[in-house]
Amino acid sequence: MHECILYKKLKDDEVQCIACNHKCIIDENMKGICGVRKNVNGKLNLLVYGFIASENIDPIEKKPLYHFLPNTNTYSIGTVGCNFKCYFCQNYRTSQVRESIGKEVSPKEIVDRALKSGCKSISYTYNEPTIFAEFVKEVAVIARKKGIKNILVTNGYMSKECLDFLGNYIDAMNIDLKSSNEKFYNKICGAKLSPVLHTIKDAYDRGIHIEITTLIIPGENNSVQEFEHIAQFIAHIDRNIPWHISRFFPMYKMRDKEITSLDSLKKAESIGKKYLKNVYIGNVW
Ligand code: SF4
Ligand code: SF4
Repeated sequence: MHECILYKKLKDDEVQCIACNHKCIIDENMKGICGVRKNVNGKLNLLVYGFIASENIDPIEKKPLYHFLPNTNTYSIGTVGCNFKCYFCQNYRTSQVRESIGKEVSPKEIVDRALKSGCKSISYTYNEPTIFAEFVKEVAVIARKKGIKNILVTNGYMSKECLDFLGNYIDAMNIDLKSSNEKFYNKICGAKLSPVLHTIKDAYDRGIHIEITTLIIPGENNSVQEFEHIAQFIAHIDRNIPWHISRFFPMYKMRDKEITSLDSLKKAESIGKKYLKNVYIGNVW
């Protein structure tokens, strides 16, 4: 266990985590929504510090990032837990797990492995990196010294405090904008839309390279109005920000849905291209 930095002490050994916008108030011996930050004797502890549940060398385009270090590999790591509960999560076997699993690894060891593998960057990905922000920071500081870039693949629900904490060490982010509809975020992800919009703008304003991804789910977020809203929101920040439109496959609690049709993806692409310079369809072979 490792004491968190992103939290406040409250009265009677209660604490408030400030890593993400849930801002959980946590009683002694309890965990926050993500399941990996626990109040132990009035101190918030990160249960997954160094416990890497997923670790791979991936092409950076798989994150997806198409405009950052193209044609390179990125050393990708993730833990268990997540601050969202997306019904369509492809990584639900780790993201929705609340026990620390995996091998304990030091920040220096992660950077050494990235260097040995020839990767130009480290990606904090697979589950939501915000929930293990303190570990991200320690890896990222060492990586930066060794000339390795740092990438967050995130749902964008991090707090301003978390972005302040990590931002100077993060070179690129792929941020999910899962929908422009508050109900979608509430019902399917267990979160709110507005903090995500805020993070996208904030990260851009800090000069971090950003790309946006939307998974198109039939009957949930594939209306013309939805595509218009998302594309317009991104364009309002910068028309050059890449938008990745990703194909949905039945998964986790959404196994009864159909695969996204090519027509739907092409519709999103054509609307996106009215407003944006870089629109890509993904997850299609
Ligand atoms: S990271 Fe978010 S979900 Fe987890 S304890 Fe902190 S505020 Fe709650
Ligand atoms: S935010 Fe990502 S990792 Fe977390 S539940 Fe949603 S899809 Fe899964």
